[in-house]
Amino acid sequence: MSRRSRENPEGLQLFDSHCHLSDAQFAADLGAVLKHAHAAGVHWVMTVSQSVPDSKQTVALSRNREGVFCAVGVHPHESDHFRSVDIQALKDMCIEPKVKAIGEIGLDFFRGISTRGNQETAFHAQVELARMLDMPMILHVRDAAGRVRGIIDEHGHYAGVLHCFTADKKLAEWAVEKGLFISLAGNITYGEERLIELVRTIPRDRLMVETDSPSLAPVPERGHRNEPAMLRRILEKLAETLGISATEAADLTRENAKRCFRI
Ligand SMILES: [Zn+2]
Ligand SMILES: [Zn+2]
Repeated sequence: MSRRSRENPEGLQLFDSHCHLSDAQFAADLGAVLKHAHAAGVHWVMTVSQSVPDSKQTVALSRNREGVFCAVGVHPHESDHFRSVDIQALKDMCIEPKVKAIGEIGLDFFRGISTRGNQETAFHAQVELARMLDMPMILHVRDAAGRVRGIIDEHGHYAGVLHCFTADKKLAEWAVEKGLFISLAGNITYGEERLIELVRTIPRDRLMVETDSPSLAPVPERGHRNEPAMLRRILEKLAETLGISATEAADLTRENAKRCFRI
C-alpha cells in the first residue's frame, strides 16, 4: 500500500468509522469511490446497514474488499418494518468474518419516521442480539438519549460507539463512563462552538471520526454527495480542536476504531 500521495502528502492512515457504501448514490461508481478513499489515506471503512435487505447487500460488498468491514442491523427509521424473525437473519449474517458490529441501531424521535413503540421494540431486540453475540453496537441517537440509556442499561451491554455525535453533554458523560466510544462526523465543521467545546472534554482514547457518507458532507463540500475520502476534513478539524497534528489525530482515531470494532 503506498502511503503518500498528492491527496495525502503526510501519509495519514485513516479509519472511516461510519459510512453507507450500499447506498444507491454509490451504485454507479463504488470502485472509484474506494480508490479516492485510498488516495486520501482512508484504508479502513466501516459500512453500516439500515435494514435486513441492506445488511445482506452490505455484507456482500465488503466480502472481497480489503479494509472494508461492515455492520448489520435495522435503523430506527426502518423499525416499522422490523419483525422478530429479523433477529435470526441478522444473527446468521454475523458468522461472516467481515461483520464486526450491530448497526446502525437506536432511537430517532426527532424525525419519527417509525413509531416510537416500533423503534423501541427493534432496538431492544438488537441490543439483546449484540449482548448475546458479545458484539459492539453502532448507535444512532436523536432526541431520545434518555430512552437509549435506559434500554442499554436494562440489557447491561456496553460495547460500541455513539455515531454522529451532537452536543449532548449528559449522553457523552454516560458513554464515557460506560466505556463506549464517540464518533464525530461532518457536523464538527459546521461551526457549532458548543460541540467543539464538548469534544475537548472527551477522553482521547474514546474518539473516532466518520463521514456518514453519502450524507453530511463536511464544509466546504456541504450539500454535495459525501464519500469516505472527505474524512480528512473532519480529521483536520478534530486535530485543530485538540491542538495536535493531523498524523496524531489519524493514529488516535484509527487505533480507537480498531479497538472498538475488534479489528
Ligand atoms: Zn445514523
Ligand atoms: Zn448512518
